[in-house]
Formats: sequence, C-alpha cells, structure tokens
Amino acid sequence: MAYVITQRCCNDASCVPECPVDCIRPTPEQREFATTEQLYIDPDTCIDCGACVDACPVDAIASEDDLLASLARFKDINAAYFERHPLESNFEPLVAPSRAPKELGTLRVAVIGAGPAACYAAEELLRRADVEVELFDRLPTPYGLVRAGVAPDHPGTKAVSSLFESAFRREALQFRLNVEVGKHLSHQELLDHHHAVVYAVGAATDRRLNVPGEDLPGSHSATEFVAWYNGHPDFANREFDLSGERAVIVGNGNVALDVARVLTVHPDELGKTDIADHALDALRRSNIQEVVVLGRRGPLQAAYTSSEFLALAHLKGIDVIVDPADLELDHASQALLDDPEIEPSLKLKYTLAQEYAAKTPTPGNKRIVFRYLVSPTAVTGEGKVEGIEFVHNELVQENGRTVAIASDRTDSLGASLVLRSIGYRGEPVADVPFDEESGVIPNEHGQVLADGEPVQGVYVSGWIKRGPRGVIGSNRVDSQETVDRLIADFVAGKLAAPTAGRAALEALLAERQPDMVGRDGWKAIDQAERTAGKAAGRPRVKFTSLEDLLKAAKG
Ligand code: SF4
Repeated sequence: MAYVITQRCCNDASCVPECPVDCIRPTPEQREFATTEQLYIDPDTCIDCGACVDACPVDAIASEDDLLASLARFKDINAAYFERHPLESNFEPLVAPSRAPKELGTLRVAVIGAGPAACYAAEELLRRADVEVELFDRLPTPYGLVRAGVAPDHPGTKAVSSLFESAFRREALQFRLNVEVGKHLSHQELLDHHHAVVYAVGAATDRRLNVPGEDLPGSHSATEFVAWYNGHPDFANREFDLSGERAVIVGNGNVALDVARVLTVHPDELGKTDIADHALDALRRSNIQEVVVLGRRGPLQAAYTSSEFLALAHLKGIDVIVDPADLELDHASQALLDDPEIEPSLKLKYTLAQEYAAKTPTPGNKRIVFRYLVSPTAVTGEGKVEGIEFVHNELVQENGRTVAIASDRTDSLGASLVLRSIGYRGEPVADVPFDEESGVIPNEHGQVLADGEPVQGVYVSGWIKRGPRGVIGSNRVDSQETVDRLIADFVAGKLAAPTAGRAALEALLAERQPDMVGRDGWKAIDQAERTAGKAAGRPRVKFTSLEDLLKAAKG
C-alpha cells in the first residue's frame, strides 16, 4: 500500500520535508517544480507512514486503499510521474533556514495584503526572527483569494486558511484589516514604522479581450463573477444575466472550469457550500443549460490542469462535451503526443478529452462544452450580449513555442452571458516602482528594484512579484525566497531601524481608520459566519457587505 496525492494538491510542498524516505516529487529545488500541476508520491518507495498526510494543509493525500471513486485514478497518475521521472534520491537532511540572531532585536515588518502570498510570508517571518508583523488588508477579512477566489465547491483548498489561523495566534502578528495603504497610510509612513515592507497585493485586474462589444451588458470578467459568487463586498451588488440558455467562457484555465461548474451544478449542491446567498438565489433562478469553454489552442495545450479536467467527469447531471474533430492534432502536437518522454499530465489531458469525446450525452443533462483552437473576434448584440463571434486557429511553431494563429474560418454562437478568463494583471502601488509591460513590481528574489538598484526595506511576494502564475501553495516557496532576502538584509545591517514602533502605529491607525478590524474583530466575523453556517448545514454563511462585516466585527 502507498499514499497518493490527489486533485486538490496545492503545491505548497509542506509534505516534502516530512517524508522520511524522500519519495515526494518534484521538490521545490527541482526545475520541474515551477511547472508541475501537482506533487506525486512514488508508490514503490512510500513506506506508508502517513507523515505527509498531517503536513498537507489541504487534505490532498490519502492512502490508495481509501481513495474515493472520483479520485481512484490518482493512484495511476502518481505512479505515471515516476515512470517519466524515476526517483533518484539525493536525500540530504534538511538544514533548517537560519534565524536572525536575537541580539539584533525585534524586526518589524509590514505585510501588505492578507492573501496566501502575504500569509505564507508572515508565517515564514514568524519562524525566522524575533519579529513583529503587521498584516494589512483593505478588506475587513483576511486570506484574500482563499476566501474570495477558491470555488465554493472546493472546500478542501480553503483549508489552507486553518494553517495560517494557527500560526497567527501569536501576539507577534497583528491584523490591521479594513486599512488601505495609500488612503489611510502612505508607503513612507509604513517605512517609518517598520524595518521592511512586503507588498503581497496580488494581481487585481483581469486582461481584456480587446474585441468589439466587450463592454456590452452581459459581458464580464470571470474575476467579477468569481468575486460575486464568493461574496466579495465590492462585487456583491453585481448582476449577471442568467436568463439565457447558454453562457460562453473565453479561456480554459482552472478559473474557467470553476465558473463552468458553478453555472451548471445543481444549486442544491452549491447550497451545502459557503457560496454567497445572493449568488445562490440567482443560480436557483438560472436558465443556463450549456456553458461553452473556448480555448485558443488545442487540447494538448489547454490551460486547465488534468486533475481539474478529470474532476468534471464526476459531476452529477452534467455532460462534458468534446467534439472528436477537435482532437485531430497538427503535426507538432501529434509528435509531442507520440513522444515516449511526454509529461504524463499532458498525455492525460489528451486522454481525458478523448474519453469525453467518446461519451454519449444523457438527455436532460446540462452541458459543459469544450471548443479548442478558437479566438473571439467580437461580442455581439443590440444593447446587451446576444452572442459571440470567433475565428478558428491553426497551431504553428514559433521560436520553439506552439502558438495559435487565426485561419480564415469563422463561426458564431448565441449566448446571453460572456465571461472572459484569460489571465490577471498586477496594478501599480503608490510610490513603489512598477513594470507596466509585465504588470509586476520589478524585483530580484523579492527585493524591489528601482532602475536596477535595490530599494532599501521594500520587498514583494506572490503574483505582484512573479506574475499571475501558480496555485495557492506556489506562494510558499516564493515567500520563503523573499523572506530569505529580507532576513539576510536585516542581519547584514542593510535595513533602516523604524523611527516609531507598534504603539505609535496603533495610535496613528486609531486616528486615521477608527473602523480598523484587528484579530478580535476578524474572530467575531468568523465566529458569526460559522454559527450562521452551522444552523444552515453549511461551512459558513458569509457577510457580503462592508456594513455587515463591520457590524459583526464589533460583535
Ligand atoms: Fe513519504 Fe510516509 Fe507520505 Fe509515503 S506516507 S509519501 S513514506 S511521508
């Protein structure tokens, strides 16, 4: 018997150092780690000790004998990885990262943002120094995309917040929620009160299609839709036209799959989750029968992960439709598929598409339809979205990359709702350098750069550091790199001592933002939401307006 890593793996690699026989791959030190869809356990080496299970923050690891039917395939998926990447154990006992010497005194750090990148950075700081961390967020709730981005039907992924909850019980970390940097405090004031500031503000805007009709009512970013159904207070009042029978999602990454599921699964299933009440009400009245997911490239190049694509097969009352014609591959893609060295996860994507294409749809089921090799050219309609026009693409090789170019074949689909899900983009932070082209804060290993030179005491972590790539757990390794740099600078005496400490910061915040929410306020919100959830048989019922959140925070 062996243990198996399954669908909800968050890639944070907490399990890797726990394994006594070093059989979890890829490790953060390996090149493959940057692009892997998930981590895998070598079944031939695993000694079945279960140590990794306790370390996993999202309950993604199970014994192969206990796998649910929907996860049974992960036994083969784990094994296949090691056929392609035989385990070479270069096991070296881990050297714990160094702590800042006590005699340097208390390191004060402001972390801006309270999403996964910020929380992993804060957690690492708490382990590495005698430190005071002030965790700022403009919302009254912490955990960023764990609360407002992860799909409600993926509760296991949200479990990572309990890892942060237990790390953040210490007084060394204080929540400074409902505080907006740039409005209540300036960048310079942050520097005055801390040795260092870590910006972990994510990538707040979405990329646009740049086609005619994109701004018609009924055309939105998936970001808005996701924030709406997750109860983000800035989006709670949005309205989405669910009166038609078809919605189209442009882009086929995991967010597109989340949205497709939320639009098609039975509302009673969503009613067991922490989805926002307003979204649940709207989805109960929805007429959407079919969601079409458009991908620019072919089934081998699709942006979704194979595990999320596989999970669609287990949705009740939903058919996944793939046109067999879309599986005819161009020469280069066929050569890749035929290559015995192909990554197993890539091959699985194609195998799954074949399996979906071979299935006979069930009359009366809702449908998630995958269309490949198409790009939108216009969103159409008189006064509101009525359809989408697109062009068929062909794949060509350019500088070793497979890129899609438009052919002369066009097509269209009727739809009342168009959601674009083609990626995110970072936004500038006042008084901090920003690279407009790449949408990130320029940095070297997390140290912010201005004109190529380090900016004293200013660091970045997460999507605003590396661009919008990776999953929640990817931020752990990313944040460790930033904290390594910050601690090294502290030890080397490169950080200016703050001119004022925690008490002065609290006095300033009391003056500037009397509605600041601290740990007790967040605990009160959390407790009230969980209590309401318990009564309704749900994990929580979210407050979705600022007013209600602040009322709950005050108990
Ligand atoms: Fe390693 Fe034990 Fe997990 Fe197997 S069960 S992968 S041996 S930690």
